[in-house]
Amino acid sequence: MINSTDDTQLSQCQKLISISRDLASTLDLDILLNRIVQAAAELSDAEAASILLYDQQSGKLHFQVTTNLKEPLMRGLIVPVENSIAGWIVQNRQPIIINEVQQDKRHFKIINKAIIAPTQSLLGVPLIARNKITGVLEAINKKSGLFTPGDQEILMTLGAQAAVAIENSRLFQQSDLIAEFVHELRTPLSALFTATDLIMHPKVSKEKKLEFADSIYGEVHRLSDMADDFLHIARLESGRIQFRIQPFDLTDVLNECVALVHKQAEQSNLSFESSISTDIPTLHGDRDKIKQAVLNLLSNAIKYTPPGGDIILETATSPDEVKICVRDTGIGVSETHQRKLFEKFYRVPGAEKHASGTGLGLAIVKRIVEGHGGVIEIESEVDVGTTFSIHLPLGSRRR
Ligand code: ADP
Repeated sequence: MINSTDDTQLSQCQKLISISRDLASTLDLDILLNRIVQAAAELSDAEAASILLYDQQSGKLHFQVTTNLKEPLMRGLIVPVENSIAGWIVQNRQPIIINEVQQDKRHFKIINKAIIAPTQSLLGVPLIARNKITGVLEAINKKSGLFTPGDQEILMTLGAQAAVAIENSRLFQQSDLIAEFVHELRTPLSALFTATDLIMHPKVSKEKKLEFADSIYGEVHRLSDMADDFLHIARLESGRIQFRIQPFDLTDVLNECVALVHKQAEQSNLSFESSISTDIPTLHGDRDKIKQAVLNLLSNAIKYTPPGGDIILETATSPDEVKICVRDTGIGVSETHQRKLFEKFYRVPGAEKHASGTGLGLAIVKRIVEGHGGVIEIESEVDVGTTFSIHLPLGSRRR
């Protein structure tokens, strides 16, 4: 005879089997993490669930996804290993059930600000794949009653499968990115090969040698930029986004950008204007990363605008968001290419005639902006100009 407990267990096992199939079917880390937290909440009958990923190199935990985040802005929030429940799970490699989280000394209270409902009860399990700890899966607030050893068992099973899926997705992303990178290395390397070959030729004039040396310098520069950008995008894609969330003044950041690119614009014979509101509310986010995103857009505007053109940096604030626009009167981008601009390594055919580049700048901008819960848009017309607009939510300010 099957009683009701057996019934529940059976249906949970069936759910687990279908979830496992689902997990194995995607290599996209974002989709995967979201599926895992949905499944964890459902299987343990919890109000919410979260994943924190553990970065072996820095020894830190990064709050990754949760079903009850107030806003995506808190993604990447660093949770200390020393002073948190998740840290305890990592250090002890063991599951834990806590019924009164707020009374627990290990509870990392800052997390309360980031989630919709405060944590009362918690069931946490380590994510271990190939004997390596990848992170922590937590189910938060049992809907009725307390978390049981049965819930713990089922979450451990889900966690084991989730850990392998996460590792596979990371390895796949890395190998994919490395393959693309190696492919992209070929062009500068073959240019270097030709130039060094020619420079050594006895019959080449001194002037020509200088010309080749110049092109070698340019290609080496490009390789070094590629290495920097590559590292950057690899970190952003690995799921260990290291956004340092802090309150900051966007006006200051934009003024710093202006000071940095003003000279460069002048040297390229471009007029550069800025119209930055002074009443932008305090933002919460990674100041340096936002600065980098704006600098990437400004540097592109300078690169792809012929001498005599105009570049404008301006902002507009509404109750919900702040918009940062970088306008130029440059070469523009046709609609067909606009769709691909944010892909890694993509450059509009012929772009190299105007400026050297890696094709990674806009991919980095997009990831930074989206990591802050924002969006980036492009409006452009060939031979007329381009406007890139970053929209950042102001949600966190009002609380
Ligand atoms: P890159 O290092 O090539 O500049 P990005 O990712 O920053 O890489 O930009 C990708 C491509 O988008 C560029 O190669 C260029 O073709 C196009 N692009 C970017 N910004 C502009 C702009 N302001 N005007 C015209 N084309 C642009």
